[in-house]
Parts: sequence; structure tokens; C-alpha cells
Amino acid sequence: MIRLEFAEGLMKMLQRSWTPLMAAAFAVVTALAAQSARAEELAKDLFGAKKLPAVAAPQSFGFYSKGCFAGGVAIPMDGPHWEVMRPSRNRRWGHPVMIGLIEKLSRDAAADGWPGLLVGDISQPRGGPMLTGHASHQIGLDADIWLTPMPDNRLSTNQREKMSATLLVDEKTHLVKEALWKPQHALLLKRAASYPEVERILVNPGIKKKLCDTVKGDRAWLRKIRPFWGHDYHFHIRIGCQPGSPDCKRQEATVRGDGCDQSLAWWFTDEPWRPAKNPDKPKARELMTMASLPRECRAVLDAPAPSSAEAATYHGDGRSIAAAAAEPAVAAAPEPAITSGAGALPASASAFAATPEIGIPLPRPRPGN
Ligand SMILES: [Zn+2]
Repeated sequence: MIRLEFAEGLMKMLQRSWTPLMAAAFAVVTALAAQSARAEELAKDLFGAKKLPAVAAPQSFGFYSKGCFAGGVAIPMDGPHWEVMRPSRNRRWGHPVMIGLIEKLSRDAAADGWPGLLVGDISQPRGGPMLTGHASHQIGLDADIWLTPMPDNRLSTNQREKMSATLLVDEKTHLVKEALWKPQHALLLKRAASYPEVERILVNPGIKKKLCDTVKGDRAWLRKIRPFWGHDYHFHIRIGCQPGSPDCKRQEATVRGDGCDQSLAWWFTDEPWRPAKNPDKPKARELMTMASLPRECRAVLDAPAPSSAEAATYHGDGRSIAAAAAEPAVAAAPEPAITSGAGALPASASAFAATPEIGIPLPRPRPGN
């Protein structure tokens, strides 16, 4: 009897002390498991699901092809000299300097005689890898602009979704289609290259060649025009890391010269156009987890959103309403890193060291292959 009571007492004592311990241990194990599952979630799914930006001071984290950004603002769907294309993609977000620059380009280009810009993809609201397309465009500093001028009549939402792009380059010869190429295209590219913030403009090699063959007088701006796959119906503007983004990773500087040399000739050999050896290999952005991105991108993902897209839409005043009202929710930036400006160009930079870090996209198969 006594022994039974003793045994019961022991059991109760054990239950009292072990249960909280077990529960605590279980909680730790569960939390760890959840954390690791969360870390392995694909970044493109998490960032692709965000409809609104991270309310914080504008800041880019990481590299153009591996990063994210806070304090994004949207370009309005319509402006006096621009229209946003493919609105359902919700990729009209960027660093305020990028958005301001597109608006400025639209005004300057209109003054040059270009009717207006059709704005393609910029970034997702918080950047990051995308569900489809683009290796880069992840830190709010890249923007695609169509090479088709804005039509006279405003496009409907449906037309913006469906209107097919005009390819300016012949897929067989990789040369521009003479009937479609206009001097205004060159003027537009020259204007875009004229801004000190713009470090590179990616165009199809055929377009680069056309400029090399026809631009007279000042050719210094051709240094920023870089040949790349695709980019036959749009050009891609890339600006440098902005002040206030100490964790933004600079790209390699372009080499001196106009680039109308052997590096361009390479594009007119077979090599760049050979079918990929392993065409089904997934692209880097399709595999990126949160662990692949800069640590701060978790905070960007978790940061509060503005009340609406309109609240974070840029109206030309240099800052959005949301950014103006924001407490810096993401780690405050130390002293702004001054990263723009020409700086010294490494002599070792290859003539087509065109953004090697963005991951070389697979060449499109040559026609007939
Ligand atoms: Zn692009």
C-alpha cells in the first residue's frame, strides 16, 4: 500500500517536472523545423505573392540578380508621356530614383520627338526573384522600355495586356529590320544613356551594331549600350546602386571605348546562338530560397505594407506618400555609400563583361534548330 502510494507520488512528481520540459523541447523542435521549412521556401513564391512594397526608407539589398529592396514606389499607370504595359504583372515598382528617372526620360524623349514611353517590367513591389522571366530586376534598379512608341490613342487595359511587341531584329541575321528602325530609336537610347545614374543599357546585338554603324559625332555614350540576348523589342535601363543602400552590390564597370569592336563581332558568330547543351536545367532564380538572398530580405518580406498601391505611387515629388510617412522598418542605413560616378575602370574588364553575374540566359535556339 505504502509502496503503491510512493509509486503514484513519484509518477505525479515526474509528470509535473517532465511535462513542461517535454513541452518546451517539443516547442523548440517545432520552431526549428518551421524555421528551416520557411528558409527553404522558394523566394520567387514569397516575393511574387507580395502585392505592395515594404514601407521603409528606400534601400536595395544584394545584386541585380540576387536581392530585394524596401521603400519601393510605383510609377502611375499613365503619365503625360508614358503608359504602363502588362499591368496585371504588377511589376511597375522600383527605387524612387529609378521611377523618377523613367518619368524624366519620358519628358526628355517627348521633347526629342519620341511620342511617349511604353513602360515594361521594372520590379515586383519588394523586388526579389520573379515567378517568370528576368534573372535581374530584383533590387528596383532595372527597367524595360519598349522600342515601340506610345500610340496616339490611350491603350485600354486589355490592349496593354495583349498588344504584341514588335521585334526590331531579324532572328536569322541578328541585324535590325531596316524598315522598322528609325533615327528616333537612336535618339531615345542616347537620351537614356545621357543620365549619370544610368550605368548600362542592354540591347540586342543587332541594335548595338546599328548604332555602331550609324552614330556620328559624339560616340562616348555608346560605352553604356551593351549587347545582350533578347532585348529586340525593348531596351533595359540599369542604374547604379543609390546612396542609402550600403548593402547594394555594384556591378562591374563597363570598359572604355564604344564597344564597336571584337566583342561585338563575337555576337555575329555562331557561338552565342548555339542551342543550350542542357535546355531543361532550371535557372538560378527558380531555385533561390530565402537563404540564397541577403539576410535583410527576410525583413523586407516581413515589413508592413502601405494602405494601398496608390499610397506608394510616385507622383514626381521625389518621394511617395508612404515613404514619407514611414519609420524605417528595415535596419536603418548607415552613412550613404556614394557609389555612382565613373570611377576608375579596371583595365582587365573584358569588352563584353556585360553583367556576368546576372547569370547567362540560355540562348534562344537558332531558327531551324
Ligand atoms: Zn530587362
